[in-house]
Amino acid sequence: MATERTLSIIKPDGVQKQVIGKILTRFEDAGLRIVAAKMMQLDKNLAGSFYAVHKERPFYNDLVTYMTSGPVFVSVLEGADAVNKNRELMGATNPKEAKPGTIRADFADSIEANTVHGSDSLENARNEVAFFFPDL
Ligand code: AMP
Repeated sequence: MATERTLSIIKPDGVQKQVIGKILTRFEDAGLRIVAAKMMQLDKNLAGSFYAVHKERPFYNDLVTYMTSGPVFVSVLEGADAVNKNRELMGATNPKEAKPGTIRADFADSIEANTVHGSDSLENARNEVAFFFPDL
């Protein structure tokens, strides 16, 4: 299985609930290495461009408002099949549909406040890692 890198964001609700450590432990226990990380407050410009693919969606403005509502924890995870592995650990976008034992099933409140973001493909992972960590 190829070694990949993927971008993870612990969203404002995850930071607020003080589960950064628990979430990072899940990544590490699954064999994913944290190769870069930073805590940051996104502004509307940065969150808007990160989610530009969703610009036409009805939830776009709320999503940008939500992602700027408090600090987020952004990291790069590296390991075999990292993109898919991270998505399995996260569970479905809507926590009501997330499998038991996944991060969203255990910690998320709603489809918006769903605790974590993870790149959904290898191509997006490359773009998202470069977006937040251009020197990596
Ligand atoms: P993604 O790029 O797949 O992470 O999607 C961006 C984020 O938009 C998701 O993680 C959700 O927080 C949010 N989102 C996706 N679909 C909806 C929806 N139908 N209503 C509200 N928020 C949504």
